[in-house]
Amino acid sequence: MKIHEYQGKEILRKFGVTVPRGIACDSVDEAVAAAEKLGGPVWVVKAQIHAGGRGKGGGVKVAKSIDQVRQYAGEIMGMQLITHQTGATGQKVRHLLIAEGADIKKELYVSMVTDRVSQRVVLMASSEGGMDIEEVAEKHPELIHQIAIDPAVGLTDAEASAIATKIGVPQESLADACAQLQGLYEAYWETDASLAEINPLILTGDGRVIALDAKFNFDANALYRHPEIVAYRDLDEEDPAEVEASRFDLAYISLDGNIGCLVNGAGLAMATMDTIKLFGGEPANFLDVGGGATAEKVTEAFKIMLKNPGLKAILVNIFGGIMKCDVIAEGVIVASKAVSLKVPLVVRMKGTNEDIGKKMLADSGLPIIAADTMGDAARQVVAAANGK
Ligand code: ADP
Ligand code: MG
Repeated sequence: MKIHEYQGKEILRKFGVTVPRGIACDSVDEAVAAAEKLGGPVWVVKAQIHAGGRGKGGGVKVAKSIDQVRQYAGEIMGMQLITHQTGATGQKVRHLLIAEGADIKKELYVSMVTDRVSQRVVLMASSEGGMDIEEVAEKHPELIHQIAIDPAVGLTDAEASAIATKIGVPQESLADACAQLQGLYEAYWETDASLAEINPLILTGDGRVIALDAKFNFDANALYRHPEIVAYRDLDEEDPAEVEASRFDLAYISLDGNIGCLVNGAGLAMATMDTIKLFGGEPANFLDVGGGATAEKVTEAFKIMLKNPGLKAILVNIFGGIMKCDVIAEGVIVASKAVSLKVPLVVRMKGTNEDIGKKMLADSGLPIIAADTMGDAARQVVAAANGK
């Protein structure tokens, strides 16, 4: 789960990280009032969307007067902000953060992620903050420093100051930088985050260390123990199909292709998408209906998939284990009738109650293309999607 910068900064502040004063707003008038409340002379008007790269896309502007705050807030609020993380259609700006302007001497990069290889939280840091860290990683990997943190000890003073020194924090700012890094680690650890990134962490003209940006991702499997994080969820920022699917506890991810996939089991779902691609097709979604799906859940899954206007064909690929093929067949029939299915439907079923399920589909009167093997199913659905 992702959150907005202003929410991330609330978390950081709670864990002792220094962030500029700021006020989140939902309108231009609110933005102006916020700027007046914060006091000048410099403010930053920042688009709040669940994507980075806002600065380059025109979503972060420095204002030197209240009139400029009004002007920039008016330009940014409601704009369709396109960044390298939003895709070509961009993301509509519904919220702004008005923050006090900081005196930037140097922009640094710091982040925490969980590293599966060392099985530890890793602190990554670079002297090259502000710009795309992916570009730094590609062109100057030697400028990115890492340290794996022992969970029993936490980020020690010695480790924090060693890495701060490596990224160019001067002696007189070291203690401050260490406190920020340790606060970031605590925030990451205590919230069950999967990413916590401050880019840029800055050195100010008077030697202080401040977080100007905040990006968090959270492990969805741990959200049950963080109601305070769940409260930050902004459904406007999420894919509507994925939001709808999560209401029914379905694992659904929207993709760019035109072949809908309804599969049980994440492994089989991945293999199904691979097979579709092998035969030259493009999946429209990942969908795992799970092992214990009911006919109702399958119906909902089917409806969500069919809402995609670009859908050209559907492949249902079921292995009946705990999940019985007749349950899937019932869901497919109910859903197809409910939405008056207009795209070709290829069904492959194997396992428990396979014969019952196949007979139900055959008797349903729906124009279903039956397939036996994975290859056969993929070949037929790709042909169907291409109108053949
Ligand atoms: P993004 O990463 O989405 O582009 P940032 O919050 O990192 O957004 O802002 C982009 C740039 O804007 C920063 O690298 C920094 O140079 C500048 N900036 C952001 N916040 C402030 C601030 N409070 N004061 C001064 N400059 C800022
Ligand atoms: Mg940033």
